[in-house]
Amino acid sequence: MNAPGIFSSASPCRSSFYRLEGKVAIITGGASGIGAATARLFHENGAKVVIADIQDALGGNASYIHCDVSKEDDIINLIDTTVSKHGNLDIMYNNAGVLDRPLVSILETTKSDIDLVVGVNLVGSLMGAKHAARVMIPRRRGCILFTTSVATAIAGTASYAYTASKVGVVGLAKNLAAELGQYNIRVNCVSPFMVVTPMSAPDEGDVPKVEAIAREMGNLRGQVLKAEGVAQAVLYLASDDASYVSGVNFVVDGGFGVVNPTLMRAFKLLPQ
Ligand code: NAD
Repeated sequence: MNAPGIFSSASPCRSSFYRLEGKVAIITGGASGIGAATARLFHENGAKVVIADIQDALGGNASYIHCDVSKEDDIINLIDTTVSKHGNLDIMYNNAGVLDRPLVSILETTKSDIDLVVGVNLVGSLMGAKHAARVMIPRRRGCILFTTSVATAIAGTASYAYTASKVGVVGLAKNLAAELGQYNIRVNCVSPFMVVTPMSAPDEGDVPKVEAIAREMGNLRGQVLKAEGVAQAVLYLASDDASYVSGVNFVVDGGFGVVNPTLMRAFKLLPQ
């Protein structure tokens, strides 16, 4: 005879298998890479997902809305259309982003690079948060998320324009957490290490090279971070499992940002 256990369906503590059941989520930049992986995972976990992107050919389905996050009118339309279709907005994931060039000297940094990258990554995120807050505040609940970068945790890993935009988003998220906590709205960032996506490997032929660099540089041997791995961290922060987590920059980098191997190599504790 089976004794009733903690996994028994009769258990009063049984929680839903679907961690976002009934929640309405917007994912900007959801047509590709980390955003697309998160859209799939959110959908599998019972959320109603609205993908917002400028790649209409990739995202063209019933839950796709064209939205250039650098245009406030597009964001207003995105939020208002979502709320009129689904009745509310529970999760706003500001993930859309662009990269100027992987790493470039300050002497080669141009004003136009900064305008483009800051306009999409920082200003787009700020506008996304503003209009999500507009509809979340009256309901006294909500979750706002951002994709930032390991560049917020350690220097010398990305261009000036990109680093400025992502560090700016971390500051913005903390300010939002301070103001919106009174309305039970949580605000957090996810900062991934290098992931193979169309951003880091624009051509199919670049994939093995970028994956080899990530494997070589990474701190966790034998692993390469995938878009799906980032999506799992985003799912945690979006779900009620993280109901008391706010104002956090959740760095998903296998320890890369806190490890300086120089001394350990000198003492031969690490391979040369
Ligand atoms: P990706 O290029 O696959 O996806 C980015 C998506 O954003 C694309 O679908 C693109 O069309 C969309 N987008 C770009 N400009 C937009 C705009 N103005 N309005 C709306 N959508 C726009 O790249 P990804 O790697 O999945 O990037 C997702 C996020 O993760 C970005 O914010 C990026 O900075 C961040 N990130 C990526 C890595 C990495 O190594 N790939 C590491 C850390 C952080």
